[in-house]
Amino acid sequence: MARIFSGIQPSGELHIGNYLGAVKNWVRLQAEHPGAIYCVVDYHAITGSYDPAVLRARRWEMARSLLAAGIDPAQAVLFMQSDVPEHTELSWIFTTITPLGDLERQTQFKDKSSKMESIPAGLLMYPVLQAADILLYRADSVPVGEDQVQHLELARDTSRKWNAKFNVEFFPEPKPLLTPTRRILGLDGSAKMSKSLGNTVGLLEDDESIWQKLRPAVTDPARVRKTDPGNPDVCNIFQLHKAFSSEATQAHVAQQCRSAGWGCMDCKKVLHEGMVAELTPIRRRAELLAAEPARIADALSDGGKVARGIARETIDRVRDIMGLGSLHAP
Ligand code: ADP
Repeated sequence: MARIFSGIQPSGELHIGNYLGAVKNWVRLQAEHPGAIYCVVDYHAITGSYDPAVLRARRWEMARSLLAAGIDPAQAVLFMQSDVPEHTELSWIFTTITPLGDLERQTQFKDKSSKMESIPAGLLMYPVLQAADILLYRADSVPVGEDQVQHLELARDTSRKWNAKFNVEFFPEPKPLLTPTRRILGLDGSAKMSKSLGNTVGLLEDDESIWQKLRPAVTDPARVRKTDPGNPDVCNIFQLHKAFSSEATQAHVAQQCRSAGWGCMDCKKVLHEGMVAELTPIRRRAELLAAEPARIADALSDGGKVARGIARETIDRVRDIMGLGSLHAP
């Protein structure tokens, strides 16, 4: 059976891009694949400048949001990356077989480093740690959004290279599991919705705050007046309908848009209803969890113990294969 692993940075709030691209899939997959492993990747969140107090709060909020979104510790293993030091151990091992050029070619590295005066080596090594995150659990299936596909190619290369170097078939080649909503744009319709770009709609935002963001959101730019017919295929709001509205509503919305029967505001109101229906139960669960912090701490602590057991087994075998195992006379 497929072994599932995925991770998310605690660098900001859990937003609907993360939810639709990845976390909703995590929730679906945990039932089909008991023991699916989900990780809050806090070592990935320290590659830029940051405030430790803010990180501390965000790790907590990410754990709470994931549990509220439906990650069930009885089915899945949910934990904090830094609780399992084997992630960094395997990462070092992988840096010794990863070509520098492959890392310099990564789109995310080029984007982020181009805005920096002094580039931390950790930013370059980020996909190596990610390969270690996945391969530590010998996972072969990784539910992620589209932006992670290139990093996963690197993880597959790493797996192949390591296996070939030591002439074993130990690590699998992890493949991405994408959703139909694999790339959600921010409400300006121009860039990927992302914590680092500040263009997100939070999963736990209240109804009014979501509406305040939807109201000015960009739609089909060719639709200037209400009487202009629109094209749902190029409208970011319609993309969100695909995630939050029933198929019947989607068909109705598309028809009203093409015939200029509705204005964009009517279409946004219907989207808002769909979002409220899906997000309200998540927000309620988050409120209940806030009143019981021990449930969050215990869930992640238990998850960390399970993860560490699996991780230790992998590292012991890796060290042994590499000639680094327990010392004895040759
Ligand atoms: P962010 O880009 O907001 O910092 P992460 O890098 O922590 O988020 O990504 C967590 C997961 O969410 C990954 O699987 C990523 O592919 C997915 N994801 C992030 N942003 C989007 C988006 N705009 N649309 C779809 N999936 C996304």
